[in-house]
Amino acid sequence: MISAKHINKQYEGKTVLDDISVDFPDGKTTVILGPSGSGKSTLLRSLDMLVRPESGTVSFPDLEIDYSKPISKKDSFNLRRKTSMVFQNWNLFPNLTVLDNITTAPITVLKRSKSDTELLTKQLLKEVGLEGLEDRYPSQLSGGQQQRISICRALAMHPEYILLDEPTSALDPELETQVLRILEKLCEQGQSMVIVTHNMEFARLVSDKIVFIEDGKKLYDGATKDFFCHPTQRIEDFLSGIS
Ligand code: ADP
Ligand code: MG
Repeated sequence: MISAKHINKQYEGKTVLDDISVDFPDGKTTVILGPSGSGKSTLLRSLDMLVRPESGTVSFPDLEIDYSKPISKKDSFNLRRKTSMVFQNWNLFPNLTVLDNITTAPITVLKRSKSDTELLTKQLLKEVGLEGLEDRYPSQLSGGQQQRISICRALAMHPEYILLDEPTSALDPELETQVLRILEKLCEQGQSMVIVTHNMEFARLVSDKIVFIEDGKKLYDGATKDFFCHPTQRIEDFLSGIS
């Protein structure tokens, strides 16, 4: 489990995360929902130090990061190894082939052998329906294909958690479906995931728990079923698209 406690983050004096505490259970999918600008990306990024909150802790059973104190290189390396981030615009390296995009980090950071990593990459590509595309460059692929590659890149690091920030919101509906299917499969396989999404159907289908935030405050933290079946007035308004 990742346990985030009392996370506070400000930008230019404005509170963006206000004393947020959330547990992200192991082997489950947690979806973070909320209006635009509510702090979803900031919370997600606080889990792997892409954002550094002023205070609060992020703990795993064998690692605790306390943002109010200096963080050692060893702790930040260990934290980074536990999570992989998938971005809205996939962020593949444009000058590297698909194969190199996926294998570079496992080989250089995890010191995995080149041959094992290439074998794993071929398996991953097959699983996401992209076998044979190893030598292509990102610009030769559709957005949906690039996003599937970026999911392979995340998986190749064998993270405990995959963190996904609006993984399908830059895609056309058809391409979105392809990516969502892969995430559903990962979810069924028990991959621990934290997903920020605006796709309510998907959230309802795959998530075990929902965290709803607004203006940096946590307004809901609980089972997906209760979120959709017994919403508060505020959540009902959000779900019906009023705000
Ligand atoms: P969400 O992902 O829910 O849309 P964000 O976490 O991206 O929200 O942003 C929360 C708030 O923090 C917004 O008001 C946003 O403008 C502000 N913010 C985010 N990143 C920065 C930054 N790097 N500098 C200043 N303000 C930021
Ligand atoms: Mg965001």
